[in-house]
Amino acid sequence: MDVHEYQAKELLARYGVPIPRGGVVYSPEQATYRAKELGGSAWVVKAQVHAGGRGEAGGVKVCTTDREVNEVANQMFGSRLVTRQSGPEGKLVYRLYVEEASRIQRELYFGIVVDRSTERIMVVGSREGGVEIEELAELRPEALVRISVEPALGFLEFQARELAFALDIPYELVPQAVHVFRSAYRAFRDLDAAMVEINPLVITDSSAGASELVALDAKMSFDDNALFRHLEIAELRDRSQEDARESHAADRGLAYVGLDGDIGCMINGAGLAMATLDMIQLAGGAPANFLDIGGGASPDRVLKAFRAVLNDQNVTAMLVNIFAGINRCDWVAQGVVDAFAAIDVRIPVVVRLAGTHVEEGRAIIAASGLPILTADTLAEAAELVVTAARREKVLDGHPA
Ligand code: GDP
Ligand code: MN
Repeated sequence: MDVHEYQAKELLARYGVPIPRGGVVYSPEQATYRAKELGGSAWVVKAQVHAGGRGEAGGVKVCTTDREVNEVANQMFGSRLVTRQSGPEGKLVYRLYVEEASRIQRELYFGIVVDRSTERIMVVGSREGGVEIEELAELRPEALVRISVEPALGFLEFQARELAFALDIPYELVPQAVHVFRSAYRAFRDLDAAMVEINPLVITDSSAGASELVALDAKMSFDDNALFRHLEIAELRDRSQEDARESHAADRGLAYVGLDGDIGCMINGAGLAMATLDMIQLAGGAPANFLDIGGGASPDRVLKAFRAVLNDQNVTAMLVNIFAGINRCDWVAQGVVDAFAAIDVRIPVVVRLAGTHVEEGRAIIAASGLPILTADTLAEAAELVVTAARREKVLDGHPA
C-alpha cells in the first residue's frame, strides 16, 4: 500500500528525519492561509498523488506570493495529474501540500528496498538526486551505492558513515547524515515498510546559515500483509489513488491484480494462475487480471469473484480454470451457474475443471443449459477463450 508524500514525511519525521515545515490543504483558501501561517517569502505547492514525476508534470510549483499560491492551488485542485508513473488516465488531485521553499545546494538520492535476490534489506544512495532511480539504474548503474543489511545486526553506524562518504557529504554534515539514514532505516523496519525513498535528500544552501540535510520529497509503501499490526498506517489508505478494480476485489477478500488485457481470469491457486496467464499469452491473448479465488471456494465466493472480473469494462471473454485439490469442482460449477442467474453475463465464459468431484462439476455445467464453453486441458481452454475474445471484438466492430 502506498501513502502520500505528506504522510510519508510525517512518519519519517517521527523517527528523526528532518523535513521542511508544511501542511496539507484541501482548498485554495486553505492553501493561502497555510502559506501565510508558515511565513517566509517562498513556498512550494505540491500535488498529493500516488505517483512520482510530479515536478516535470506541473504538480510541484514554487510560489513567491500568497496570491500565486492561491492561483496554483486553483489550477491543481480537481485536476487529474498525468505523470510518467501515473498511467494515462492520471491521478485525481484533491489534497495539496504547502511547504516552506528550501534553498538547494545539492540533491541526493536515498532509498531503502527489499532485495529479493539476497533476501535482505538494501540501502541505496546516489550523488545524483532528483532524477528517477530506475532511469539511473539503467543508464549509469555505477552512480548507485548499494549497502546490504545483515538482518541480525541492522543498518550499522559504520555503514551509514560509508554511505555518507560515498555521497560526498561534507565532513561537518556526516553525523547528521548518519542520523538521517539510520532514522529512515528504523522507520522502514519498525513500520514494516516495503520501500522508503527520499528523492531528493538535499543539502541546503549555506547563504542563510549552516547547511543542513532535509528530506525534500518522500515516498513510502507498506507490506499489505503486515498492515493488520499497524492500524494507524492502514488508515492512511487513499482509495481515490488506487486501481478501482483492485479496491473492489480487496474489499471482498479476493487476491486480485488488474492487468491491461481483455481476458478475465478466475483461477484457484497463485501458481496455476501464473501458468494460466502464460498460456493465454502463448495462445495470442492478453489477460485482464490475475485472480486467485483460493482453496475452499464456496459458490458465494465464486459469485463475488465473477463480479470482480466483470467489473472491468475491458473484459471481452472470461476463463474459469480450476484444479481442485482442497477445492471441489461441483462447488465451483454451482458458483458459476449461480453467477449466471445473479448477473447478466454478456460475454463468452470458458470453464475448465479438473480434480476433486470433476464429474459432478461437469454434470452441473452440462445440466444448466447455459451457453458455457468447456475444455478439458489448460491449453485447450486458453485457445478457446482467446478465440472467443477475438470474435467478440469483431462483433463489437473493433479490429481483432
Ligand atoms: P517529484 O517530481 O514527484 O519527485 O516531486 P519532488 O518533490 O521530488 O519535486 C521535484 C523537484 O522540484 C525536486 O527535485 C526539486 O528540484 C524541486 N523542488 C521541490 N521542492 C523544492 C524547494 O523547496 N525548493 C526548490 N528550489 N526546489 C524544489
Ligand atoms: Mn521526488
